[in-house]
Amino acid sequence: MHTPAAPSSVHALPSYLQADHLGPWGIFLQQVDRVTPYLGDLARWVETLKRPKRMLIVDVPIHLDNGTVAHFEGYRVQHNTSRGPGKGGVRFHQDVTLSEVMALAAWMSIKNAAVNVPYGGAKGGIRVDPRQLSASELERVTRRYTSEIGLIIGPTKDIPAPDVNTNEQVMAWMMDTYSMNVGETATGVVTGKPVDLGGSLGRREATGRGVFTVGVEAARRLGLEINGATVAVQGFGNVGGVSARLFAEAGARIVAVQDHGGTVYRAAGLDVAALTAHVARHGSVAGFEHAETLAQDRFWDVPCDILIPAALEQQITAVNAGRLQARLVIEGANGPTTPEADDILNDRGVLVVPDVIANAGGVTVSYFEWVQDFSSFFWSEDEINDRLIRIMRGAFDAVWQIAAEHHVSLRTATFIVACRRILRARDLRGLYP
Ligand code: NAD
Repeated sequence: MHTPAAPSSVHALPSYLQADHLGPWGIFLQQVDRVTPYLGDLARWVETLKRPKRMLIVDVPIHLDNGTVAHFEGYRVQHNTSRGPGKGGVRFHQDVTLSEVMALAAWMSIKNAAVNVPYGGAKGGIRVDPRQLSASELERVTRRYTSEIGLIIGPTKDIPAPDVNTNEQVMAWMMDTYSMNVGETATGVVTGKPVDLGGSLGRREATGRGVFTVGVEAARRLGLEINGATVAVQGFGNVGGVSARLFAEAGARIVAVQDHGGTVYRAAGLDVAALTAHVARHGSVAGFEHAETLAQDRFWDVPCDILIPAALEQQITAVNAGRLQARLVIEGANGPTTPEADDILNDRGVLVVPDVIANAGGVTVSYFEWVQDFSSFFWSEDEINDRLIRIMRGAFDAVWQIAAEHHVSLRTATFIVACRRILRARDLRGLYP
């Protein structure tokens, strides 16, 4: 069947899509440009990837506990839905911008296609510092935001999940608010819910388990033993914390951990359980007594075999990429490495397992959660972990082979696999009307 060719670039991008090339959206555009030569005939659809399908900006007004009214800006971006409903997390952070959410939504499209779960890509966020809010203020922000984006989310439309500073409780409030508005309990509207509310066993740990699984695969190909390897982790929340624990359980030494509050270092290996307990009590790794404290920037000089960025975007840059000691970087965070840094690491022979495959474990188990909610039939944790590991290994293998075949980085290889899937769906569906 022949689909008429789409004119590839008749119109210039609207101004809000021409984000400066130093920001996350600009980085995504560069990544798409790098992959276009490998898309063959499908390249004629590549413009669709450079324009998010739908973007909603909402005002989120709430009563603060002191009786005044505060307004926050919220976003939900559906980047692409050619392969299925939108899927991606919601971030609460004081620096969230539309451009950032656009890029995060786009990376979700790539990630979901890379592991072949039947979703498009979406992401949401609120420009708010949740640490400044009381629990009841946080609940009001969450509920009002959910109600505002309720126009475009839904179990078969777009399914949010946790991201930076959002957790199971936030997902429970989102599920409840959406359910109240539609008049029925709709568990499938979000994933990452508490297990008592239709959440999945294994979801909380899924992203970290995925990071560990692809880390083991990549290390094996480098001839690097995990048992005895040294690991540095940036970010000690859901992703960084679980990744650190799993690597430590496999015999690795977690020599450095950095979070928003500080950096701790111990050459003999940090006690991950004790550090976790310290963070639960104090909100940060700062002040952990069984370790040395390092200045934040010294983190990048720490001698280690494996580096796991698991905090925010644009952490490994042209400024620090030359200093990294690691042989292997596993991107737990989304977008932690800038394209310039990627090139520097590549030239130095450092293997980078990109975010779009490395942290796909979370959305994979989110998919399992969504399937379980629809069928009201819940699986055991062993079944979930087995399926997760099988999908992650299979996806990593496929990407490794494409990288070898085309002599490209694992990032470009993942984009090749994913963009082909997305654009093939686009091509088969054709253009409406
Ligand atoms: P989280 O809120 O649980 O933890 C974030 C961590 O990053 C915290 O330890 C925080 O202190 C640290 N951090 C924040 N700012 C920092 C800074 N300037 N320097 C150093 N550390 C800093 O968030 P999370 O869910 O673990 O997400 C972390 C990253 O992983 C994000 O990029 C997110 O998009 C990505 N991710 C998360 C999931 C998931 O399932 N949670 C899935 C895929 C990708």
